[in-house]
Amino acid sequence: MKSSRLLSASLALSAAAALASAQPPPRFKAHDMSRARPPVVQPGAQTLPVPPPSDAIVLFDGTDLSDWRSADGGPAKWVIKDGAIESVPGSGYLFSARGFGDVQLHVEWATPVPAHGKSQGRGNSGVFLMGLYEVQVLDSYQNDTYPDGQAAAVYGQYPPLVNACRPPGEWQSYDIMFRRPRFRPDGGLVSPARISVIHNGVLVQDGVEPWGPTAWLQALPYTAHPDKLPLGFQDHGNPVRYRNIWLVEKP
Ligand code: MG
Repeated sequence: MKSSRLLSASLALSAAAALASAQPPPRFKAHDMSRARPPVVQPGAQTLPVPPPSDAIVLFDGTDLSDWRSADGGPAKWVIKDGAIESVPGSGYLFSARGFGDVQLHVEWATPVPAHGKSQGRGNSGVFLMGLYEVQVLDSYQNDTYPDGQAAAVYGQYPPLVNACRPPGEWQSYDIMFRRPRFRPDGGLVSPARISVIHNGVLVQDGVEPWGPTAWLQALPYTAHPDKLPLGFQDHGNPVRYRNIWLVEKP
């Protein structure tokens, strides 16, 4: 009973936040297994890695972790293997040393092969814009889970338009266009964050506006935060790999 009241309260908060951001209130419960699965699309062939443009900030080129930190601000605890960063289960999130706001972000990732586990336990990680807004990383190749938590979902909020996942072990790409939320000096929300995602060359999120930071079974309202915050990668206990991470800061 207590948890259902809490859930009602958080849904009410979520509805209020959605109204404040001119978004329609969510029509589905968070992590609703009854909602339709996004259609599966086989992405076309891609040439990876994608070289960065001249104005990009290269955060990881396969050689060192000098631009990265662990959650406590100390040295990064993830490891480099064959030119990729690999999540070390139990080591915590990986954060960029620098903070960023509005960005175009390119990242390539691969989930473990052979695949282990199922649903959220299979190749789970995540790209956390500003450390708060997660674009889910998951092995969603023939792996059913709740649609708002599959690969390329804005976690717990927006399922991807289609499932463009490649098989485990294959390199995949995210190109993420992120506009940070704007806040008034008094902390009120001026405009929500906005996220578009291209997964393996396929548009999967088209300018969606999160109704707050992403979270598991929680609808968090926006609270004012700095204009720039570190980019984060989630340790969810699976050795997911990342490479060729670069971004372009947008004015
Ligand atoms: Mg995740």
